[in-house]
Amino acid sequence: MLHKMRAHIYGCTSGHKKDEIASAPSTRQSRIRLSSSRLDLLHAYNRLMLGTSNDYEVFFGNIMKKLGVAEDRQIDFDLESANFRVMFLLARTMFHEFAHAFCMAYVSSSDGIEPWIADNISNEIGYALEKYVLGGCPTPNVVIDHSSMNNEDHAQQKDHAPFGLSFAENWDLWRPESKLELRKSPINQDLTNVVYPLPQRHIHELFGNELWTQKVDRFGSSAVKHPKLQRWKVLQDFQKHWIATAVPRNLLIDTDANPGGHGSAPRSS
Ligand SMILES: [Zn+2]
Repeated sequence: MLHKMRAHIYGCTSGHKKDEIASAPSTRQSRIRLSSSRLDLLHAYNRLMLGTSNDYEVFFGNIMKKLGVAEDRQIDFDLESANFRVMFLLARTMFHEFAHAFCMAYVSSSDGIEPWIADNISNEIGYALEKYVLGGCPTPNVVIDHSSMNNEDHAQQKDHAPFGLSFAENWDLWRPESKLELRKSPINQDLTNVVYPLPQRHIHELFGNELWTQKVDRFGSSAVKHPKLQRWKVLQDFQKHWIATAVPRNLLIDTDANPGGHGSAPRSS
């Protein structure tokens, strides 16, 4: 189901109150709701390709100006690449929510919490599966250090992902505890986190045939994992901001390790 949802909530999975039986014995139904925001963007991009509307371009034409970048320093965005990022993020949300639904199929919602996977500190199975399969939890880079940007602008950056994606080595390092998400102490007390940019080329590969028909056969599931570009890694500090040495100090990028802003229930991404 596609819904208008609160900004920054892209997906949400909830169990049925009465634990209705699903198709297999001893399993239960759940309901996945997805925000329409990214699907709306995919439609807007299609309209641009058809030449019937340029809505999609407008955001990209204004974002640099909103950030106060001088006209002669503004860059042109590759809109096809941006569209691939949106498709990827939508697919990632569906994958994430499906993990919750799979868990709910076997664990009654009244039983409470999800399992911990491997050495994850938090028991959030959606992110744990992303980390397991993709090697990290991708999130849009968002520029937040500008006074002229309001919440809506911030939400639009998260929707359009104009500045690419990144992922942290540890997705749950500072994740707060909630009713459904509990924290274990980290085995390794070193709370340094490393964040990597996600190469656009990798996102394109995920939508290509070669990866699925050749590379996965040759290299197994590691072929789909996010590559870690060592030269571009940056340390994440305790404020959940990361500062690249190559980036001016006033350009802070919010890695937003908790895009769902999980409350007590239901599960969301
Ligand atoms: Zn989740």
